[in-house]
Amino acid sequence: NDSQEIAVTPDLLRSMPLPQPDGDGDKEARGRVLVVAGSVPVPGGALLAGIGALRAGAGKLQVATAASVAPHLGLVLPEALVVGLPETPDGAIAAEAAAVLADRAGRCETVLIGPGMIDEEEVAALTGALLRRLDPAEAGPRLVLDAVALAGLGRDPAPLLRHPGRAVATPHAGEMAALLGCTRDEVAADPLAAARAAAARLQTVVALKGGCTRIVTPGGTCWAYRGGTVGLATSGSGDTLAGIVAGLMARGASPEQAAIWGVFLHGEAGNRLSRRIGPLGFLARELLAEVPGVMAELA
Ligand code: AMP
Ligand code: MG
Repeated sequence: NDSQEIAVTPDLLRSMPLPQPDGDGDKEARGRVLVVAGSVPVPGGALLAGIGALRAGAGKLQVATAASVAPHLGLVLPEALVVGLPETPDGAIAAEAAAVLADRAGRCETVLIGPGMIDEEEVAALTGALLRRLDPAEAGPRLVLDAVALAGLGRDPAPLLRHPGRAVATPHAGEMAALLGCTRDEVAADPLAAARAAAARLQTVVALKGGCTRIVTPGGTCWAYRGGTVGLATSGSGDTLAGIVAGLMARGASPEQAAIWGVFLHGEAGNRLSRRIGPLGFLARELLAEVPGVMAELA
C-alpha cells in the first residue's frame, strides 16, 4: 500500500547527494566497472549497459562478452577494454568463463552481470561460480544483477548470500516471477510484496521495474518512482538502467542510493526524450546521452 512507500523525487535525491570527485581526481578515483553481458544473438546489451556505466560517471569500463562478438564490440565501444569469453554453440557466454573473470572482477569496484545474456542454465552456473570465487571482503566489488542472471539466484541464493548488502537486482515483472518461482500475474497483483520477498531472499536491494518502479531493501524499506513515461518500455531500456546503476556504485554510491538515483536518472532521461522527439519511438541508446544533464541538474 502506498503509505508504505517513499516517493522518489528531486528533493529526495538532493537529500542523498552522489559522491563527487575531487577536482584533481583521476579516472581510477571514479571506479572501475566490469560489465559481463551480451551473447551472439544479443550483443548490444553489453554496449548499452557499458555506456550506461560511463554516462553515470564511472571512470573505467571493461566489458566481457562472447568471444566471437568481442572484437566488434570493441570497435563500437572504443572507451572500453573488451574481453572475449568462451561461448556455447548457441552463442551464450559459457559458464567456464567464471574462471577467467574472477581475478578481473576482484579488481573492479562494480561488476554487472546479465544484460543481453542467453541460456538461463549457463548464466546460473556462471553467476554462481563467479560469486563463489569473489572475495566477500569489504574491498571486494559491488554487484548489479539483471535479467537472466536472476532466475538461478532465486533458486539458489547461496552464492549471493556470501555478499550481503553489496548488490542491486533489477528484475522486471517476468524476471521477478522467475526469481520467486511464481507467476507474472502474482507479481502484478502485489508488486510490493514480491519485491520485499525477493530482497529478503537475496539479501540485496531489489528494483522491481515497471510503470512504477519500486526499490526495496532487505529490511523492507520501499521507495517508489512513478515519474517515467511509457516510451521507456522499449527494447534495451533495462540494459541502460543496469549500466547506470553499476556506474553510480563504482563512483561510491551505496546499493540503495545507486538504485534510487539510477531509476530516477533513467526515467527522467526518458521524459526529456519524450518531450523533445515524441512519447514513443525514442531508442534505449538515446537515453544514455541524457543522463549527464539530468544528473547535473540535481547536483
Ligand atoms: P526492461 O524490461 O528490462 O527493458 O526494462 C524496462 C524499463 O522501462 C524499466 O526501467 C521500466 O521501469 C521501464 N518501464 C516499463 N514500462 C513502463 C511504463 N509503462 N512507464 C514507465 N516506465 C516503464
Ligand atoms: Mg531487461
